[in-house]
Amino acid sequence: MNESLDEMYRDIILDHYRSPRGKKPLEKTDIASEGHNPSCGDEIDVELQVDDDTVKDVHVNCHGCAISVASGSMLAEIVKGKTLAEAFRIAELVKKILKGEETEIPEDLGDLDALKGVRQFPVRIKCALLSWVTLMEGLKDYKSGQRGGKSSISTDDDKD
Ligand code: ZN
Repeated sequence: MNESLDEMYRDIILDHYRSPRGKKPLEKTDIASEGHNPSCGDEIDVELQVDDDTVKDVHVNCHGCAISVASGSMLAEIVKGKTLAEAFRIAELVKKILKGEETEIPEDLGDLDALKGVRQFPVRIKCALLSWVTLMEGLKDYKSGQRGGKSSISTDDDKD
């Protein structure tokens, strides 16, 4: 990876950190999950408003480092308007990319490309993963019929 690419990634991440997307509270919350990343202290709430199996709106509230906040902001931006199945698939893809199991983002997922830069910093990978595993946990519980409660996950408990 060359230096200018690194800079581009950094700028995208800083932009999301400074003005996170998905700050507006939802009119109605259908899926709520919270996640913790003990290794860094990041905490996140991911909430979805669902209409006809599609994510109508997303609310993300993250208290943590720049990477965790930026990653949550990217999630809010990308998942809105997607079906629940697509949202889950994107989260799985991001997870693979962060873990180095997948090297390319095969479709145009916008700023998500910047998360690839995080792989150079192994201690930050869980920070970037946090929002996505939190989303996946909420989607899994919703699908299995555990609705109405709040899902919870720690990056330490996240297994494949
Ligand atoms: Zn962090």
